[in-house]
Order: sequence, then structure tokens, then C-alpha cells
Amino acid sequence: MRAKLGDGTVDACSIVNAKAGNCAEDCGFCAQSAHFDTGIETHGFLDPEEILAAAKRAEADGAQRFGIVVAEKGVSKDKRPEEWAEVLRAVRLVRDETDIEIDASLGLLTQEEANILADEGLNHYNHNIETSPRYFDEIVSTHDFEDRLKTLRRAKNAGMDLCAGVILGMGETPADRVDAALELRTIGVSSLPVNILNPSRGHRWATARRRRSRKLT
Ligand code: SF4
Repeated sequence: MRAKLGDGTVDACSIVNAKAGNCAEDCGFCAQSAHFDTGIETHGFLDPEEILAAAKRAEADGAQRFGIVVAEKGVSKDKRPEEWAEVLRAVRLVRDETDIEIDASLGLLTQEEANILADEGLNHYNHNIETSPRYFDEIVSTHDFEDRLKTLRRAKNAGMDLCAGVILGMGETPADRVDAALELRTIGVSSLPVNILNPSRGHRWATARRRRSRKLT
């Protein structure tokens, strides 16, 4: 949800889980990671017609923005061209057959990929930074904070608005939260999702242990 300042209303944002599970990354908070046995239902990239149907439902329910979300380090034009083509087909369908703003969370992007997505009509790009640069390596080892910043810069360079936020409750300190907020201010995001960790059974994530090992002030 995005607050509209002044008139007391909110914009609603709806998402579709377009590809679930089996992600090769090891983000310690994420039920989609193949590194943890979280018992979620997994599926490959949905048929773009199913994604369109979800967008139409969201629009009919009053959402102003619709996000296509995949569990993936990055939907790669070069490594998985067939999936990339399906992503573009989904974006075009939603663009052409609804009036909803299109968002997507497709993982890391090259500049070329960001440009193509923007040209196809993607209005917003979601890519959370999760936490402070200092704490990031404690929760992810398969990519780094700078990788995420690069993708946000590329999406912005391509002309998309940024939706990027954090997850609270991963053992970070108040200083980590402030530093994450300062990073987001520097990047210049237009939406800032604040998520609260809800650890899944089977996660390697050991919140209590991490909390004990870091002094919360
Ligand atoms: S890259 Fe995304 S989907 Fe994959 S484990 Fe990390 S947060 Fe989850």
C-alpha cells in the first residue's frame, strides 16, 4: 500500500507469485530459497495468461498497481531466454489489456534488461535492500549489497520508479535500520515496503541465536 499524502486515501498494490521456490540464492529470510526445506509449494513461471487474469482481478478489486514477482536471483535474458520471453509477454498483456500500473520483482538486472522492461511498459521495479550494507553479508552469501544497488540504479536509469525496502526482525540493530533508511533515501525510492520477518519452519535462519550475538540497543 502507498499512502497518498493529503487526501487521506491509500493506493493498493497487488502482486502475483509468478514463479515460486527453488531459488539458488541463500537469503536467510526467504522461504523461496532452495537452501532451506521450508515446505512451500513450488512452480515455474506461470502462463502469461494466468498473470493477466490475476492483474484483471487486482484491477477489479481496486488495486492501482500490480506486481509480477519471481523467486530468482535474476530473470536472465541470456541464461533463460525462453523464460525472459514469457516475462515480456506477461508485461505486454497486462500493459495492453488493463489500465493498472505494472510493477515487477525479477531479481538482479543488467542495464540492457532494465531498458527493455521499461520500454515494454514496466512502470515500477521492486528490489529490496533488506538491511544495512554492514549487516547484509550476515543474511546472504550468494550475492552482495552492491549487486542490489546496481540493479536499483539500472532500473532508475531506465526510467522506472523504484520500490525498495527492508525486512525488520533479522537481528539487525537500530543503527542498521537507520543506515538502511539512509541508503534508500540516497537511492531515491518512490515506495518503501517495510516487512517484518516471519521465519518459516526449516529455515537455517536462527533469529534468536543472531539476536543473542548482536547487542540490541
Ligand atoms: S534472491 Fe529473492 S527469491 Fe531468491 S532467496 Fe533471495 S530473496 Fe528469495
